Amino acid sequence: MRSPTPKRTPLSGCLISLEDYRPLIGDEACERIRAKAAALRGLRVLNFSSTYYGGGVAETLTSMTLLMNSIGIRSEWRIIQGTPDYFSVTKKMHNALQGDSINFSVFKRRIYEQVVFENAIRNRIDHDFVVVHDPQPLPLIEHYKKNCPWIWRCHLDLTNPHPRVWSYLRKWIDHYDAVILSCPNYRQALPQPQLIFWPAIDPFNTKNRTLNRRITKQRLARHGIPTDLPIIAQISRFDPWKDPEGVIEAFQIAQRRRGARKARLVLLGNFATDDPEGAKIFESLCGSRSDSILVLARGDDTSLVNALQRSAQVVLQKSTREGFGLTVSEAMWKGTPVIGGNVGGIPLQIENGVNGFLTSSIEETADRVAELLKDERLCRKLGKHGRSTVKKKFLLTRYMEQYLDLYLSPPSPIEK
Ligand code: UDP
Repeated sequence: MRSPTPKRTPLSGCLISLEDYRPLIGDEACERIRAKAAALRGLRVLNFSSTYYGGGVAETLTSMTLLMNSIGIRSEWRIIQGTPDYFSVTKKMHNALQGDSINFSVFKRRIYEQVVFENAIRNRIDHDFVVVHDPQPLPLIEHYKKNCPWIWRCHLDLTNPHPRVWSYLRKWIDHYDAVILSCPNYRQALPQPQLIFWPAIDPFNTKNRTLNRRITKQRLARHGIPTDLPIIAQISRFDPWKDPEGVIEAFQIAQRRRGARKARLVLLGNFATDDPEGAKIFESLCGSRSDSILVLARGDDTSLVNALQRSAQVVLQKSTREGFGLTVSEAMWKGTPVIGGNVGGIPLQIENGVNGFLTSSIEETADRVAELLKDERLCRKLGKHGRSTVKKKFLLTRYMEQYLDLYLSPPSPIEK
């Protein structure tokens, strides 16, 4: 069966193509990518992940699979269909891979393995490349005869994975022909090559494209976010690793500092379909609501995310573990200074004092919030550098080209 040819028509809407990136990345990069794509024309790639919606993996796969198709790579994306039990187990596993403790009973393992087995029964795979994202679909590999390279793309912060969970997962990881990680210090002792691909943003989607002031104000007003005070915002899934409680505390400390400029904190979040923890965390945060602290679960509105990242005086991403942290690049792209936790993928994006600030404690975060609230010139300077960092390093075309390079030089099959 031939895949549909993406094109611009009034009915199908507007599909972003490589040409749209030309003014941002230049002629040379565009032609280089075109040449690589031409050599791979018609390649069939299958991506498998755990959710079509919510979180950075779904965010990048949405844009990446479309852009890949626009250059002739037949890039498909399938989702694991799992029960709530399965997603509860896989969220615990996700947490354990980021260093949490876990009671990983035989019962939980059975749920995990059974759901993946059932998905394998439903899915025929006859592609030229298979890219499996994160631990949820990882065991798929054991149910297929391997006729092409299989890649495990792990988006998590693997600084300190739980040893028992890691060694349990090794029985599948070790069969993959290559592993892709977001950060060099996530590398583990593994038999196959470990490649480092930084994630990246789509500058043209609703979340990141230019919004004028009028629409920005309208979006905020529509969701009841006043603009009479400067806004400090964190926009994240409601997840313990994003440390929303630490954000509230840092904001309160900053506001108590002598001579502090008054501001309003907005915690905006959403829930991913593969993350059952979110609702509980959201409810627990609602107790901190006040005139100056807004906690909103309206983050499904991507133009609100755009408006908030654009109009905030400072964006926080005070994570304690962070695979990459797309929200950092998203805010930097909008020229908004970011204060980020000095963990995982955040220091790949923020150079402390140059295009944002890195912090390692609540106190330090409070200091930086207070400093940026007072110094708009500094905000503008950091924001300007932030935008140029993203332009150089964190646009989707760079990420896509890394995949093209991998497809052009596939890893040798791992014998197991
Ligand atoms: N996001 C959103 N609405 C929200 C919270 C987050 O659209 O209320 C998006 C955010 O803009 C980013 C992605 O979800 O594109 C989160 O990716 P990130 O890498 O920062 O974190 P993850 O959720 O994958 O841990």
